[in-house]
Amino acid sequence: MKLSYPIKRRKSRVVKIGKVLIGGGFPIAVQSMTTADTRDIAATVEQINQLFEAGCDIVRISVLNHQAGDCLINIRKQVDPDRPIVADIHFQYKLALDAIEAGFDKIRINPGNIGAEWKVREVTQAAKDAGVPIRIGVNSGSLPKDILEKYGHDNPEAFCEAALREIAILEDMNFNDIVISVKSTNTQTAFWAYHLLAEKCDYPLHIGITEAGTLDTGSIKSAVGIGAILMTGIGDTLRVSLTADPIHEPRVAQQILKACALKDDGLEVIACPTCGRCQIDLIPLAESIEAKTRNIKAPLKVAVMGCAVNGPGEAAAADVGIAGGDGQGMLIKKGEIVARFPEAELEQRLLAEIEEMTGEKTG
Ligand code: SF4
Repeated sequence: MKLSYPIKRRKSRVVKIGKVLIGGGFPIAVQSMTTADTRDIAATVEQINQLFEAGCDIVRISVLNHQAGDCLINIRKQVDPDRPIVADIHFQYKLALDAIEAGFDKIRINPGNIGAEWKVREVTQAAKDAGVPIRIGVNSGSLPKDILEKYGHDNPEAFCEAALREIAILEDMNFNDIVISVKSTNTQTAFWAYHLLAEKCDYPLHIGITEAGTLDTGSIKSAVGIGAILMTGIGDTLRVSLTADPIHEPRVAQQILKACALKDDGLEVIACPTCGRCQIDLIPLAESIEAKTRNIKAPLKVAVMGCAVNGPGEAAAADVGIAGGDGQGMLIKKGEIVARFPEAELEQRLLAEIEEMTGEKTG
């Protein structure tokens, strides 16, 4: 896929996951995954709802065993039908059948561990009858043995071949409601695996870096890996995988999309890094403004700058901003100073301006 500016997204076919459409240029859907024990229906439903509130478009739950499989009907019933939920199945193909019967909106299976071809065919037939899409999710930790022997670990071609092999079974049954992921924990392997796959099929791609790490490390690694893939136009849905409370995942995912200029709704705070000219306590000010404006849905770029010397110029790309120092505060719009006031009023004046510009309440 050739690089282009602005980013030209890869043309992929549309797949419907409940009420959410992915592929075909539809907005890139954000996913996360619950960590609650699926056998605890109340806890799982609560976490699903929290993840949707935090910015997920789709939420996945793992189905560990038959006890968890028995809970799927109740989980589906208790979650708003407009909120797509996905069942993640490893090893036991029958759990995929349970999830389809329970009304789940998508099934994720792993070619490395779902077992014999006839099992994949049974799941595919059930999904076809119910109109449920399947994600073929290839991961570094579970590549089929023969493919590992052929290519070794961490080889983009291994990921691609594992996915294509599974796709061939589904296509043989005239099933094309397919989403694919080839997540490696190595950002370069993932990058090239997604590129190889993008050249070989037009199915929508779910992108991510698996086992990315803890909140800080994992966010950075995901931003680099997912961001690089997105910037070349590949990706229809994504998950940031963190060793942390999953509530952070949709927030980081949304930030990656914004940083890649692939999402323009919601407010974005840009803030200067401060330097020797800064004469206000900018870090807590920027953090407080970011926290209080997280809920704003309108697209607005807000600048928080540390000095009157360069602040207005550096804030030129923002719709509205503030700069301060030496007791003085100023409100800036598109790089022009539009009001001056005491420095102590910086936060309050900016929040009031944001509310007026967006018609929404800050937190
Ligand atoms: S806006 Fe002012 S304080 Fe902030 S980095 Fe630029 S020069 Fe330094």
